[in-house]
Amino acid sequence: MKTIKDIDIDGKRVFIRCDFNVPKDDDGNITDDRRIRGALQTIRYCLDRDCKVILASHYERPEPGKYEEKFSLKPVAQRLHTLLKLADNITLAKDVVGEDAKAKAKALSAGDVLVLENLRYEAGETKNDVEFAKELASMVDVYINDAFGACHRAHASIDAMARLFDKDTKAAGFLLNKEVTFFDKTLENPIRPFVAVVGGSKVSGKLEALRQLLDKVDKVIIGGGMAFTFLKAQGYEIGNSLVEDDLLDEARTVMIKARKKGVKFYLPVDVIVAPEFSENTPVKFVTFQEIPEGWMGLDIGPASSRLFREVLSDAQTILWNGPMGVYEMEKFAKGSIKMSHNIADTHATTIVGGGDTADVALRAGDVDEMTFVSTGGGASLNLLEGKTLPGIEALKA
Ligand code: AMP
Repeated sequence: MKTIKDIDIDGKRVFIRCDFNVPKDDDGNITDDRRIRGALQTIRYCLDRDCKVILASHYERPEPGKYEEKFSLKPVAQRLHTLLKLADNITLAKDVVGEDAKAKAKALSAGDVLVLENLRYEAGETKNDVEFAKELASMVDVYINDAFGACHRAHASIDAMARLFDKDTKAAGFLLNKEVTFFDKTLENPIRPFVAVVGGSKVSGKLEALRQLLDKVDKVIIGGGMAFTFLKAQGYEIGNSLVEDDLLDEARTVMIKARKKGVKFYLPVDVIVAPEFSENTPVKFVTFQEIPEGWMGLDIGPASSRLFREVLSDAQTILWNGPMGVYEMEKFAKGSIKMSHNIADTHATTIVGGGDTADVALRAGDVDEMTFVSTGGGASLNLLEGKTLPGIEALKA
């Protein structure tokens, strides 16, 4: 895969596929602009080389063909305007490949930036439609993909469009290259002990990643809702906690594989339980052997946090994916926040992957203490599963 530095872009029309799918509040204000900031390096690199820059991204899931205001990239364009300090040299097109976008693209001068509207306003985007990809490609000379968070989807701006360019006119941007290199390097040649911390709601979503990780890591820590499937698989009463009964055998197989490979496998030793899934409910701290019937475990307890801190103390590499509890509710966020602090306090190389997990690290104020926080949840999980990403394959093709 070539990176932007390997190809000639001077003075050219450059398309940069970004991931501007940022969270917004009810009033449409951007609440976390890390994904926009993450794209700045590539954009500035192009502007410094007198390029005419076209930026494109999806934003959430609009109904194709319907231009609803709430899915517009307007706030993103405004934030880019502030961050890039470009005065009048940045504009937002009214459409994606329509008259307005094409006219504005044609009128671009060196150092100008045009932001296309939400790619998913066009039905062709999610269908990986070649005709739509050709329309996008007709506006530029060079294709750059800097949208790691979208690389696991074979959509037109990620897959079909990249395939329309030859090897000298397409490349990965700085952000995409950094993400991929970090995961590759860490997984191929980690400094040991290498500890994986896996949490989140379900075993099913992370089973393949877990299986793959067992071949690579020295220790695994399991937290979050998925821990209960493992506890039940060992015969413990888990009350009304989240469980995937159809995966009990799989869970046992994973634990047996870990034992055979000498991988230390840690589950929570205590949990915070509640009679209902709500912020306004009474809670109890109990050991994992004493979850009352009818109650559900919604966070790891303080003893687990201390145990996991011990487990992490000699780690040299830590990979963290998935919160330890229902961190969205204040009452059940402590286990995840403490895990973030515990990881940040080590001297290990620390990699945080996944939107929720990055969110926890942000809330805990630990982002600057982590070695690397990945912007893409699904994409980083696919890399852990050993899968190739369509976006990367298309760049290599
Ligand atoms: P995932 O998308 O699989 O990484 O899961 C993230 C979600 O898992 C978050 O929204 C958490 O609220 C949820 N979660 C974590 N722990 C639990 C739990 N004990 N019970 C139910 N949901 C949980």
